[in-house]
Amino acid sequence: MEIMTRRTILKAAAAGGAAGALLPGMAHAAAKGTEVFTSDEAGLLVDSTVILGEKSAVLIDAQFTAGNAGLLAEMIAASGRTLESILITHIHPDHILGLPVLLDRFPQAKAYAQTDIQGILAQILGGMHGQIAGNAPAGVFADRFVVPEALSADHIMLEGERIEILPPMAGDTALITPVHIPSLNTLIATDVAYIDTHLWMEEVVQNNTIGAWRASIEQLRGIGAATVIPGHRKSGSANDASVFDATVAYLDHFEAARAASANAEEFRAKLLEGREDLGFGFAIDRSVAAAFPA
Ligand SMILES: [Zn+2]
Repeated sequence: MEIMTRRTILKAAAAGGAAGALLPGMAHAAAKGTEVFTSDEAGLLVDSTVILGEKSAVLIDAQFTAGNAGLLAEMIAASGRTLESILITHIHPDHILGLPVLLDRFPQAKAYAQTDIQGILAQILGGMHGQIAGNAPAGVFADRFVVPEALSADHIMLEGERIEILPPMAGDTALITPVHIPSLNTLIATDVAYIDTHLWMEEVVQNNTIGAWRASIEQLRGIGAATVIPGHRKSGSANDASVFDATVAYLDHFEAARAASANAEEFRAKLLEGREDLGFGFAIDRSVAAAFPA
Protein backbone atom coordinates (compact mmCIF):
# COMPACT_ATOMS: atom_id res chain seq x y z
CA MET A 1 0.00 0.00 0.00
CA GLU A 2 1.29 3.40 -0.88
CA ILE A 3 1.80 5.73 2.01
CA MET A 4 1.52 9.41 1.22
CA THR A 5 3.95 11.71 2.89
CA ARG A 6 2.93 15.01 4.36
CA ARG A 7 4.69 16.98 1.64
CA THR A 8 3.17 14.93 -1.18
CA ILE A 9 -0.29 15.50 0.19
CA LEU A 10 0.11 19.20 0.79
CA LYS A 11 1.61 19.63 -2.65
CA ALA A 12 -1.27 17.68 -4.14
CA ALA A 13 -3.83 19.63 -2.12
CA ALA A 14 -2.26 22.94 -3.10
CA ALA A 15 -2.19 21.93 -6.76
CA GLY A 16 -5.97 21.53 -6.73
CA GLY A 17 -8.19 18.99 -8.44
CA ALA A 18 -6.93 18.93 -12.02
CA ALA A 19 -3.22 18.99 -11.27
CA GLY A 20 -3.79 16.86 -8.21
CA ALA A 21 -5.31 14.09 -10.28
CA LEU A 22 -1.97 13.75 -12.05
CA LEU A 23 -0.29 12.89 -8.81
CA PRO A 24 -0.55 9.22 -7.90
CA GLY A 25 -1.19 10.14 -4.27
CA MET A 26 -4.43 11.91 -5.02
CA ALA A 27 -5.80 8.95 -6.97
CA HIS A 28 -5.01 6.81 -3.93
CA ALA A 29 -6.85 9.20 -1.65
CA ALA A 30 -10.13 8.26 -3.37
CA ALA A 31 -9.75 4.62 -2.32
CA LYS A 32 -10.03 2.95 1.06
CA GLY A 33 -6.71 2.62 2.80
CA THR A 34 -4.42 4.56 5.07
CA GLU A 35 -2.56 7.83 4.82
CA VAL A 36 0.28 8.51 7.21
CA PHE A 37 1.41 11.91 8.37
CA THR A 38 4.98 11.97 9.73
CA SER A 39 5.88 15.11 11.64
CA ASP A 40 9.07 17.12 11.34
CA GLU A 41 11.93 16.71 13.82
CA ALA A 42 10.46 19.44 16.07
CA GLY A 43 7.36 17.26 16.27
CA LEU A 44 9.62 14.28 17.17
CA LEU A 45 9.04 12.46 13.85
CA VAL A 46 5.83 10.99 15.18
CA ASP A 47 3.38 9.20 12.87
CA SER A 48 -0.37 9.76 12.79
CA THR A 49 -2.40 7.38 10.62
CA VAL A 50 -5.66 8.27 8.90
CA ILE A 51 -7.79 5.21 8.12
CA LEU A 52 -9.96 6.04 5.12
CA GLY A 53 -13.39 4.62 4.42
CA GLU A 54 -15.26 5.79 1.35
CA LYS A 55 -16.81 8.77 3.10
CA SER A 56 -15.53 8.67 6.66
CA ALA A 57 -12.19 8.37 8.41
CA VAL A 58 -10.66 7.39 11.74
CA LEU A 59 -7.44 8.96 13.01
CA ILE A 60 -4.87 7.15 15.13
CA ASP A 61 -2.82 9.58 17.28
CA ALA A 62 -2.94 13.35 17.25
CA GLN A 63 0.59 14.77 17.00
CA PHE A 64 2.68 16.87 19.38
CA THR A 65 3.04 20.47 18.17
CA ALA A 66 0.15 22.65 17.01
CA GLY A 67 1.88 23.22 13.66
CA ASN A 68 2.14 19.52 12.84
CA ALA A 69 -1.42 18.90 14.06
CA GLY A 70 -2.59 21.68 11.74
CA LEU A 71 -0.84 20.09 8.74
CA LEU A 72 -2.38 16.73 9.67
CA ALA A 73 -5.81 18.42 9.78
CA GLU A 74 -5.20 19.80 6.28
CA MET A 75 -4.33 16.31 5.06
CA ILE A 76 -7.57 14.91 6.50
CA ALA A 77 -9.61 17.76 5.02
CA ALA A 78 -7.99 17.16 1.61
CA SER A 79 -9.13 13.51 1.75
CA GLY A 80 -12.74 14.72 1.63
CA ARG A 81 -13.72 12.34 4.44
CA THR A 82 -15.71 13.09 7.58
CA LEU A 83 -13.48 12.42 10.56
CA GLU A 84 -15.55 10.31 12.98
CA SER A 85 -13.10 9.14 15.66
CA ILE A 86 -9.63 9.79 16.99
CA LEU A 87 -7.86 7.10 19.02
CA ILE A 88 -4.96 8.05 21.28
CA THR A 89 -2.76 4.96 21.66
CA HIS A 90 -0.81 5.85 24.82
CA ILE A 91 -0.12 8.62 27.30
CA HIS A 92 2.90 10.27 25.69
CA PRO A 93 2.54 13.97 24.88
CA ASP A 94 3.79 13.62 21.30
CA HIS A 95 0.66 11.57 20.51
CA ILE A 96 -1.95 13.75 22.23
CA LEU A 97 -1.03 17.42 22.71
CA GLY A 98 -2.16 18.23 19.14
CA LEU A 99 -5.66 16.86 19.82
CA PRO A 100 -7.39 20.25 20.42
CA VAL A 101 -6.21 21.48 17.00
CA LEU A 102 -7.90 18.49 15.35
CA LEU A 103 -11.09 18.82 17.38
CA ASP A 104 -11.31 22.52 16.50
CA ARG A 105 -11.10 21.60 12.82
CA PHE A 106 -13.38 18.53 13.05
CA PRO A 107 -15.78 19.25 15.93
CA GLN A 108 -17.96 16.23 15.12
CA ALA A 109 -15.10 13.82 15.82
CA LYS A 110 -14.98 11.90 19.12
CA ALA A 111 -11.63 11.29 20.80
CA TYR A 112 -11.02 8.03 22.67
CA ALA A 113 -8.37 6.14 24.57
CA GLN A 114 -8.56 2.61 25.99
CA THR A 115 -10.03 2.67 29.53
CA ASP A 116 -6.79 2.16 31.52
CA ILE A 117 -4.87 4.63 29.37
CA GLN A 118 -7.70 7.14 29.58
CA GLY A 119 -7.68 6.84 33.38
CA ILE A 120 -4.01 7.80 33.52
CA LEU A 121 -4.48 10.63 31.03
CA ALA A 122 -7.31 12.05 33.12
CA GLN A 123 -4.84 12.39 35.98
CA ILE A 124 -1.67 13.56 34.26
CA LEU A 125 -2.59 15.35 31.05
CA GLY A 126 -3.17 18.76 32.63
CA GLY A 127 0.20 18.76 34.36
CA MET A 128 1.93 17.44 31.27
CA HIS A 129 0.38 20.11 29.06
CA GLY A 130 1.20 22.88 31.55
CA GLN A 131 4.82 21.84 31.81
CA ILE A 132 5.45 21.39 28.10
CA ALA A 133 3.37 24.23 26.65
CA GLY A 134 4.32 26.52 29.54
CA ASN A 135 8.02 26.16 28.73
CA ALA A 136 7.63 26.76 24.98
CA PRO A 137 7.01 29.97 23.02
CA ALA A 138 3.32 30.80 22.56
CA GLY A 139 1.74 28.95 19.65
CA VAL A 140 4.14 26.01 19.52
CA PHE A 141 1.62 23.85 21.36
CA ALA A 142 -2.17 23.98 21.59
CA ASP A 143 -3.18 26.40 24.35
CA ARG A 144 -5.41 23.83 26.02
CA PHE A 145 -5.66 20.08 26.43
CA VAL A 146 -8.51 17.61 25.91
CA VAL A 147 -8.83 14.34 27.83
CA PRO A 148 -10.27 11.70 25.48
CA GLU A 149 -13.29 9.58 26.42
CA ALA A 150 -12.76 6.07 27.81
CA LEU A 151 -13.14 3.30 25.22
CA SER A 152 -13.97 -0.06 26.76
CA ALA A 153 -14.74 -1.79 23.43
CA ASP A 154 -11.93 -3.66 21.67
CA HIS A 155 -12.70 -2.10 18.30
CA ILE A 156 -13.98 0.94 16.43
CA MET A 157 -16.23 0.47 13.39
CA LEU A 158 -15.59 2.36 10.16
CA GLU A 159 -18.26 1.85 7.51
CA GLY A 160 -18.91 -1.73 8.61
CA GLU A 161 -15.23 -2.72 8.90
CA ARG A 162 -13.68 -3.52 12.26
CA ILE A 163 -10.66 -1.57 13.40
CA GLU A 164 -9.20 -3.75 16.14
CA ILE A 165 -7.79 -1.98 19.20
CA LEU A 166 -5.31 -4.45 20.68
CA PRO A 167 -5.12 -4.91 24.49
CA PRO A 168 -2.53 -2.62 26.12
CA MET A 169 1.04 -3.87 25.81
CA ALA A 170 4.50 -2.60 26.69
CA GLY A 171 6.62 -0.59 24.28
CA ASP A 172 8.36 2.70 25.06
CA THR A 173 5.83 3.06 27.89
CA ALA A 174 3.89 0.47 29.89
CA LEU A 175 0.49 0.67 28.17
CA ILE A 176 0.15 1.02 24.40
CA THR A 177 -2.76 -0.06 22.19
CA PRO A 178 -1.60 -0.86 18.66
CA VAL A 179 -4.32 -0.99 16.00
CA HIS A 180 -4.96 -3.80 13.52
CA ILE A 181 -7.09 -3.35 10.42
CA PRO A 182 -7.59 -6.87 9.01
CA SER A 183 -9.45 -5.62 5.92
CA LEU A 184 -6.38 -3.58 4.93
CA ASN A 185 -3.75 -6.10 6.10
CA THR A 186 -2.34 -3.20 8.09
CA LEU A 187 -1.00 -2.89 11.62
CA ILE A 188 -0.41 0.44 13.32
CA ALA A 189 2.31 -0.53 15.78
CA THR A 190 2.62 2.98 17.22
CA ASP A 191 5.37 3.14 19.88
CA VAL A 192 6.02 -0.59 19.96
CA ALA A 193 8.09 -0.03 16.77
CA TYR A 194 10.43 2.68 15.50
CA ILE A 195 12.69 2.93 12.46
CA ASP A 196 15.46 5.39 11.52
CA THR A 197 15.15 7.23 14.84
CA HIS A 198 16.42 6.86 18.37
CA LEU A 199 14.02 5.18 20.78
CA TRP A 200 12.43 6.74 23.85
CA MET A 201 14.15 4.61 26.49
CA GLU A 202 13.72 6.62 29.69
CA GLU A 203 10.75 4.76 31.16
CA VAL A 204 11.95 1.43 29.83
CA VAL A 205 15.26 1.79 31.65
CA GLN A 206 13.66 3.09 34.84
CA ASN A 207 11.09 0.28 34.93
CA ASN A 208 13.38 -2.43 33.54
CA THR A 209 10.90 -3.37 30.79
CA ILE A 210 13.08 -3.98 27.74
CA GLY A 211 12.11 -7.67 27.91
CA ALA A 212 8.41 -6.80 27.96
CA TRP A 213 8.94 -4.52 24.95
CA ARG A 214 10.67 -7.35 23.06
CA ALA A 215 7.72 -9.65 23.82
CA SER A 216 5.27 -7.09 22.41
CA ILE A 217 7.31 -6.86 19.20
CA GLU A 218 7.12 -10.63 18.72
CA GLN A 219 3.39 -10.61 19.46
CA LEU A 220 2.80 -7.95 16.79
CA ARG A 221 5.15 -9.62 14.33
CA GLY A 222 3.03 -12.76 14.70
CA ILE A 223 0.01 -10.94 13.27
CA GLY A 224 1.82 -10.99 9.95
CA ALA A 225 0.45 -7.72 8.55
CA ALA A 226 1.91 -6.59 5.24
CA THR A 227 1.89 -2.91 6.19
CA VAL A 228 3.28 -1.99 9.60
CA ILE A 229 3.26 1.67 10.57
CA PRO A 230 5.70 2.53 13.37
CA GLY A 231 5.27 5.25 15.98
CA HIS A 232 8.35 7.21 14.91
CA ARG A 233 10.37 7.28 11.71
CA LYS A 234 11.64 9.62 9.09
CA SER A 235 9.26 10.66 6.35
CA GLY A 236 9.60 7.99 3.66
CA SER A 237 11.08 5.30 5.96
CA ALA A 238 9.86 1.73 5.66
CA ASN A 239 6.36 0.72 6.73
CA ASP A 240 6.53 -3.06 6.78
CA ALA A 241 7.75 -5.79 9.15
CA SER A 242 11.32 -4.43 8.88
CA VAL A 243 10.31 -1.83 11.49
CA PHE A 244 10.32 -4.69 14.02
CA ASP A 245 13.87 -5.68 13.02
CA ALA A 246 15.00 -2.06 13.34
CA THR A 247 13.51 -1.79 16.84
CA VAL A 248 15.05 -5.06 18.04
CA ALA A 249 18.42 -4.01 16.59
CA TYR A 250 18.27 -0.72 18.50
CA LEU A 251 17.35 -2.49 21.75
CA ASP A 252 20.26 -4.92 21.24
CA HIS A 253 22.61 -2.01 20.52
CA PHE A 254 21.33 -0.11 23.56
CA GLU A 255 21.83 -3.01 25.96
CA ALA A 256 25.30 -3.82 24.60
CA ALA A 257 26.39 -0.17 24.79
CA ARG A 258 25.08 0.13 28.34
CA ALA A 259 26.83 -3.05 29.48
CA ALA A 260 30.11 -1.87 27.98
CA SER A 261 30.01 1.63 29.49
CA ALA A 262 31.24 2.80 32.89
CA ASN A 263 29.70 6.27 32.82
CA ALA A 264 27.33 8.59 30.98
CA GLU A 265 29.92 9.97 28.56
CA GLU A 266 31.03 6.52 27.43
CA PHE A 267 27.46 5.38 27.06
CA ARG A 268 26.47 8.41 24.98
CA ALA A 269 29.42 7.87 22.63
CA LYS A 270 28.69 4.16 22.22
CA LEU A 271 24.96 4.77 21.74
CA LEU A 272 25.65 7.19 18.87
CA GLU A 273 28.35 5.05 17.25
CA GLY A 274 27.21 4.19 13.73
CA ARG A 275 23.86 5.82 14.42
CA GLU A 276 24.76 9.47 13.95
CA ASP A 277 22.05 9.94 11.30
CA LEU A 278 19.07 8.76 13.31
CA GLY A 279 16.25 11.19 14.02
CA PHE A 280 14.56 11.95 17.38
CA GLY A 281 17.91 12.99 18.90
CA PHE A 282 15.90 14.57 21.72
CA ALA A 283 15.60 11.09 23.24
CA ILE A 284 19.37 10.65 23.74
CA ASP A 285 19.90 12.89 26.78
CA ARG A 286 17.00 11.26 28.58
CA SER A 287 18.22 7.74 27.73
CA VAL A 288 21.69 8.52 29.02
CA ALA A 289 20.40 10.16 32.20
CA ALA A 290 18.12 7.19 32.91
CA ALA A 291 20.89 4.62 32.44
CA PHE A 292 23.57 6.61 34.29
CA PRO A 293 21.81 8.95 36.74
CA ALA A 294 23.97 11.89 37.82
ZN1 LIG B 1 5.95 8.49 20.59
